Amino acid sequence: MMEVLRTIDGMRRWNRQSTGTIGLVPTMGALHEGHLSLVRASVKKADRTVVSVFVNPLQFGANEDLSAYPRTFEQDLALLKAAGADAVFYPSVEEMYPRGESLTRVSVGTMGQVLCGRTRPIHFEGVATVVIKLLNIVAPDYAFFGEKDWQQLAVIRRMVDDLNVPVTVVGVPTVRETSGLALSSRNQYLSSEERGLAANLSRALRLGLSRYEAGERSRDAIRDAIRRELQEHGLEPEYVELVDPDTLDTAPQVLDRPAVAALAVRIGRARLIDNLMLGQN
Ligand code: AMP
Repeated sequence: MMEVLRTIDGMRRWNRQSTGTIGLVPTMGALHEGHLSLVRASVKKADRTVVSVFVNPLQFGANEDLSAYPRTFEQDLALLKAAGADAVFYPSVEEMYPRGESLTRVSVGTMGQVLCGRTRPIHFEGVATVVIKLLNIVAPDYAFFGEKDWQQLAVIRRMVDDLNVPVTVVGVPTVRETSGLALSSRNQYLSSEERGLAANLSRALRLGLSRYEAGERSRDAIRDAIRRELQEHGLEPEYVELVDPDTLDTAPQVLDRPAVAALAVRIGRARLIDNLMLGQN
């Protein structure tokens, strides 16, 4: 039976009573196949799987979509049950932040300032803070994060390493529609026409990959090819960058090791991100 725990005490009690290893899948709900592939990866690897559903105010900027963020909890529960989750941690904002916003925060330095951090300066500090709280509450052996949010995955890996958190972070490949569009809760903001446009994000990244695979090793040439492909479809990216997969530092001008090509584009009400690995990491 899948249990729903709304309090930190309840979650900890469930934990103490459960046996074997625990996998944690942190989510903000509005679940889709991308989330479910994380859940399945956890079910496969760990004896028990806990999925957290919490829209974390700390990671939203003042002008972002906190209040509009899709919430579909009843549907999420049905999907999680079918995917084999054992427990759902579903705390209120008051339960997670009883004194209002957390005074203590995890600073992630420059890793939180590059890429998406340029337009979302407090986002990754908010993510790291809620994730360390979830790790402290659930105390999992494994924690699963999607490669779709590559910067988030890199930040969490680094935090776990820097702070000696006793958990193994597992990255899970991006789940895509047949058009190539990466699944995202924010795709719900798109009209059908915008959805068609959004397929150009992955198309542009794949073009960059094909240049790389054909032997192109100029960082700027690949970046510009991706950017031009987007612009040809009327999309002006917020950024297109090639970075080191672990440090997120700008990749060297001559690509002598694997890099991640990452981009963000605004389409209508949605801000969409995607990335693709160039080379074998
Ligand atoms: P979110 O609910 O958007 O915070 O996402 C929760 C987790 O699901 C994060 O680790 C995401 O990276 C992951 N995720 C979201 N979309 C996808 C996707 N299309 N493929 C794989 N993982 C995803």
